Amino acid sequence: MAAINTNSLDGLYLSNYTDTDETIKRIATTQMQAYHARQLFPCFDEPGLKAVFNLKIIHKTNYTTVLGNSDVANVTEFADLEGWSVTTFNPTVPMATYLFAMVVSDLEYAEADGGLFKVPVRTYAPPPVVARNGATYSADIAAKMLAYFDTYFATDYPMQKMDSVHIPHFSAGAMENWGLNIYREAYIIYYPGESLESYKNLLTSVVSHELAHQNFGNLVTCKWWNELWLNEGFATYISYLGVDGVRPEFRHREWILNDAFQYSMRVDVSARSHPIVNDAVTPDEVDSYFTGITYEKGGSVNRMTEKFLSEATYKKGLQYYLHNMSYQGVVSDDLFHYLNVAAQEDDRLPAGVTVKMILDSWTLQKSHPLVRVSAEGPNSVYISQERYADPASVDLWWVPVTVVTQDAPSLENWVPKLWLERDVPIKSVVHDTSKWIMINQDATGYYRVLYDEGLTPLIADQLRRNASVITPLSRSQLLDDYFNLAYRGNVEIEAALEFTKYLEQEDHFTVWEVIFTQLRQAYNFAQTEDEHSAIRNYLAPKIRPALEKIGLEQNNNVHIGALGILRTKLIDWSCALGDSFCVDYANKLYTEWGQDVNKILPIDIQASITCAIVANNGQAGFDFMMAKYIATPMQNPSKVRYLNALGCSRDAGVLQTLLGMTLDTNSQLVRSHALSVIQRVAMNKQGRRLVIQFLKDQVDRIISILGSGSPSPVSSILSSLSSYVSTQEELDEVLKFVADHAAKFGVINGSINSYLTTIRSNIAWKVTFGKPIISWMGENVSINNSASYANPSLAVFVSLVTAVLRCVN
Ligand SMILES: [Zn+2]
Repeated sequence: MAAINTNSLDGLYLSNYTDTDETIKRIATTQMQAYHARQLFPCFDEPGLKAVFNLKIIHKTNYTTVLGNSDVANVTEFADLEGWSVTTFNPTVPMATYLFAMVVSDLEYAEADGGLFKVPVRTYAPPPVVARNGATYSADIAAKMLAYFDTYFATDYPMQKMDSVHIPHFSAGAMENWGLNIYREAYIIYYPGESLESYKNLLTSVVSHELAHQNFGNLVTCKWWNELWLNEGFATYISYLGVDGVRPEFRHREWILNDAFQYSMRVDVSARSHPIVNDAVTPDEVDSYFTGITYEKGGSVNRMTEKFLSEATYKKGLQYYLHNMSYQGVVSDDLFHYLNVAAQEDDRLPAGVTVKMILDSWTLQKSHPLVRVSAEGPNSVYISQERYADPASVDLWWVPVTVVTQDAPSLENWVPKLWLERDVPIKSVVHDTSKWIMINQDATGYYRVLYDEGLTPLIADQLRRNASVITPLSRSQLLDDYFNLAYRGNVEIEAALEFTKYLEQEDHFTVWEVIFTQLRQAYNFAQTEDEHSAIRNYLAPKIRPALEKIGLEQNNNVHIGALGILRTKLIDWSCALGDSFCVDYANKLYTEWGQDVNKILPIDIQASITCAIVANNGQAGFDFMMAKYIATPMQNPSKVRYLNALGCSRDAGVLQTLLGMTLDTNSQLVRSHALSVIQRVAMNKQGRRLVIQFLKDQVDRIISILGSGSPSPVSSILSSLSSYVSTQEELDEVLKFVADHAAKFGVINGSINSYLTTIRSNIAWKVTFGKPIISWMGENVSINNSASYANPSLAVFVSLVTAVLRCVN
């Protein structure tokens, strides 16, 4: 046996937590994926090789919570040493070494109701967390999810128990060890009444992901890491089904479009892309495949497969696969074989076509198709595929195509009648080209679609007349395709913007998600008052009807799940744009708050509303929020929101005072909050120049007072600025600052160069896209009455909250 690691978070290592009485308590725990089991015991440390583990742990008797992959068989006194015990575990099922886990601790737990699942389901956490009821939600949701998967896959899953453990300072986001899943706090601890709905969504989906692994990854395991997608692409896709099964209000069968499909398509055309299945030999190569391609593109290809085979056939094929390959290492061909058996039984594929032929084309090469739909004459269109990125390769795909038209706008059968073949990339379809046609209903096929210049306006016309004729997911993908095609130069940006004209009809979260993602950059880079007005006058009236419909006033029965999360984002944008509809509501809450010191703002809109209060109420609003910040105890999550709101002021004098407080050790700012205050002001359009000036004037004091750690405070501030600075004048100032003071932070020159590169690309982006977007909006304003709109000046904040750390195993 090896010594316990105290300087890294892998193998068997030491963690700790702070108990209620402020004492530090130790935890011995493990993280073996991908190749750390060999640090603890000699083994063939490969995912495809499985063994039964018989574990005994000799530990001090006062560590009462000792956990392994299987149940405890017995605990006895250790004869050789007083005060020590021996915990012996039942033999495990045959499993891979990377799934081995053990925990020695005095953690406590919450247990799901016995009726929810057939074996005990517990969430372990430090006692202060359990005392605040922080472990209950995840235990309950895990038990419900396990019951759901049990029914869905009809596997005879050999479970003794299912423990989830919150380990502070855990290196991964979460890890699916057999029977002993380990999580960092953000993915497992939920405080009723305190945690955000978006956070509940994230936590629920991470728990679902890890439990999906119990079948995909643990029961059947990729033979080698090059086919990690057989673990992760499945855990990713199945997790959406699991959340949909037990928490339907989060609407994960729709949310997957934004969260996995659209996200991974952006990764898939970047320099970071790689084929889903790719060689991985060295540890570094193995580590480098835990990516948005293996996870989210893998998940999206699964979604496409489920659709072209039909849900029933796909499910049957997965059941064959799980039943036949249990306890074995698998390769993609095993999966393809069993899916194909089901497909043949149900006659889902064209003659001579196999699942392997189709899915090899999606898993063995990177990128994805661009499919064009173009009029051939008055009575037919041709549909053709080409490589969207990575033109160096000429290889194509098997592309499933569904078709809807103006005369037949709904799709009855998802099994496609039309395939673009790898060797036959163009097909002709009969269609009256005076009417609109759309393909790839709900974006189930993993590709982008571009209509020709005659067909595009017909779709835009339909959206303006009655958008609901086109399904929400098809609307979402249409917008996502056209903005991305524009940003890559395939179409003019105006073509994408034309599709936004109908948005006052739009109330679907998957569409607004695209809009907020695609227009954030243009909004953040808008600098002058004219630029602000153009965006505000175009976009705010589009957002307002959705917000009116969903309800500005908090309703705890309605504003849950996807709808609750959408409301948060709409309010964030509406208030940030300065729509009086939202600002008046913020001011009403401000007045009520002033009259009742015990009032608590609804948690999910606290960030946006407190920001709007400070932004629109000058010195008084700032003083009010500062008082709230000071009066709120550290452990209350609202304290950080009040802190962040302080940076929203539009008053230069107020912002100067605030920046000064960060270096005043007698001020009432908590020291550890000082740096984030400066970063927050850097996000504010009115604050950016002040922060640059502040850096110039105070660099020595910033370094001496805020520390010289890594990354240094100066580097962190420049990093924040680089996300927003988009003018040559500001870049010149930053360059001058760097040139004057380079000697003081010589060690971070590499990162500073990357910030400067980011700013230069911001400037180029603004010239190419930002300015045309803003001037188009100026010419297409929805209203003439700008009197009801305040100045938009705030960064849009909620977007940052949802920028998920993708580090879940
Ligand atoms: Zn995973």
